[in-house]
Amino acid sequence: MIGITPDSIPDDLFRVLFEKSPGSLLIKTDAPQFSIAAVSDAYLKSAGLPREAVVGKGFFEIYQDDIDQSDDKAARKIFSRVIRTGEKVDVPVYRYDIFEPGASNKTPHYWSFSNIPILDSRQQVAYILSTFTDITGEVKAKEAAQESEHRLLLAAEATGMAFWELNLADNAFSYSQQLLDIFGHPAGTNITLAEVRSQVHPDDMENIVMKAFESALIDGGYFYEVRVYWPDRSLHWIRTKGTVQYNKNKEPVRMLGTIVDITESKSDEIRKNDFIAMASHELKTPLTSLKAYLQLMETKLSGTTDPFVKTAVVKSGNQVNKMTALIHGFLDLSRLEPGKLKLIRTTFNICALIEEVLTESKILSNSHSIRFEPSGECNINADRAKIGQVISNLVNNAIKYSQKGSYVILKCEANDGNVIVSVTDEGIGIKPKDQEKIFQRFYRAEEDEQRNISGFGIGLYLSSEIIQRHKGKIWVKSKEGEGSTFYFSLPLGS
Ligand code: ADP
Repeated sequence: MIGITPDSIPDDLFRVLFEKSPGSLLIKTDAPQFSIAAVSDAYLKSAGLPREAVVGKGFFEIYQDDIDQSDDKAARKIFSRVIRTGEKVDVPVYRYDIFEPGASNKTPHYWSFSNIPILDSRQQVAYILSTFTDITGEVKAKEAAQESEHRLLLAAEATGMAFWELNLADNAFSYSQQLLDIFGHPAGTNITLAEVRSQVHPDDMENIVMKAFESALIDGGYFYEVRVYWPDRSLHWIRTKGTVQYNKNKEPVRMLGTIVDITESKSDEIRKNDFIAMASHELKTPLTSLKAYLQLMETKLSGTTDPFVKTAVVKSGNQVNKMTALIHGFLDLSRLEPGKLKLIRTTFNICALIEEVLTESKILSNSHSIRFEPSGECNINADRAKIGQVISNLVNNAIKYSQKGSYVILKCEANDGNVIVSVTDEGIGIKPKDQEKIFQRFYRAEEDEQRNISGFGIGLYLSSEIIQRHKGKIWVKSKEGEGSTFYFSLPLGS
C-alpha cells in the first residue's frame, strides 16, 4: 500500500494519475525548448503518437510554430505569458490543423487550450500544465448554424422579408434591417416597438393588431394584414406572421415572426373588390324592380287558369331570388376588407334564428324534406343577420348538392361552452382533397355531377370569414356519394 498524505503524493502515483488525465502535457519552462516532461494517454491517443515520440522532446520539435507568430494565440507567446505572469492562460478556441489517420493533407482542427503554471519552492514557474480538448465538432456545428442563418438572411433579403422578435418580459424589440425598408425608414435607423405601432392605421391597430396580439398569447399563432403609414404619409400594406414561445410553466415569453410588404398585391385585390362592389350595386337596382314587377304580375294573374303562365311567374320569381342572393354575396365579399365588415352584435336564441331561416328556405324549396332537431335554447352574442346568412348558405348548398326528395337535417346543441350547429345532406359528397379547399375564395370542386350546378365558390368562404370573425370554427365531414355534414361552432353566452 502506498501511504498518501495531502502533502506528499508518491512520484509513481503522480505519474499514473497524470497519464490517466484528459489530453494533457506537462511542459518544462526551458524556453525556447519547452521540453515535454510528461504526457497523458488520452493526449497520445488523440495525437496518434507513441509516448517515446513525445516525452523529452521540445514542444516545437513536434509541433511547428504557429504560422502566424503575431497572433496572440500562438503557443510560444502563450507559454511565455504564463512564465512571465505566473497566471493561468485559457484559449477557448485554438486552431491547429492535424493529419487525420490515413489522410495525406492536414484538416482544420480546433482545440480548447488551457495553460496552468506550476510553481517550484521559490515560487517560480517550473512547469506549464497544458490541456487540449478537441472541440472541432462543436466549432463546425456552430459554423454550419451560422452558414444556414446567413443563407436564411440572404433568402429573406431577396424576397424582401423582415424578421422580428419581441421579448414579452421587457418589450425589447429586435428586427432585421429589412424591417426599416418595409416601414419606410433609411437603413441604420433605430426604431422602437412603439414607433412601429404608431405607423399602423389607427382602425387596424384597434380592430386587428391588438386583438391578434391578445389571441396569439392564448393560441400561439399570429397573423394579420394591416395598413401602415410611412413617414412620408404614403399608405402601404404589410402582412405579418408569427409564433409565440412559452417557458416550461407554459407562460408566453417571446414572440417572433416575419413581415412582408404586400402593397402591390393588396392594391390589385382592392381594385378587383371595388369593381365587384360597383357591379353588384348597379345590378341590384334593376333586379329589385324586376322582382317588384313579378310580384305585381303574380297578384294580377291570380285568377288565371293557364297553368303555364302561373308556374312561369313563380319560377321567374325563384330565379330572381337566386340572383339577388348571389349579388348580396358579392357585395359582402367586397366588404371583407379590414374594418369594412363590422359585426353588429346582439344576444339571441340561435334555434329561433334557424327556424326563421328554414321557413324561408322551405318556401323557396319544396323539393327536399328539411328537418330541424333543436335541443334546448342556445343564446349567443353575435351578428344575427350574418349568422342567419351562414345558416342559409349551408342549407342552400345542402339542397343544391343533393337529389330532389332527399333529407336535409339540421341540429343545434350546446357543448362545453359552445353551440354547435350542423347541416347534414344525403347528396353528392365531397372528396377529401376538396374538403380542405372548399372554404377558400372562388374554390369549386370540379366534379361531373356538379357541372350543371351554378355557383361562384364564395358562399363557404364568406361563411368561414363570418364565423372566424366571431371567434368560432367551421368544418365539414363528408363521404363521396353518401352526403356531407357541415358544422360551425360559436361561443355560448350573452
Ligand atoms: P358555390 O356553391 O357557389 O360553388 P360555396 O362556397 O358555397 O360555393 O361552395 C364551394 C364548393 O364546395 C362548391 O362548389 C361544392 O363543390 C362544395 N360544396 C359546398 N357544399 C356542399 C355540399 N353540401 N355537398 C357537396 N359539395 C358541397
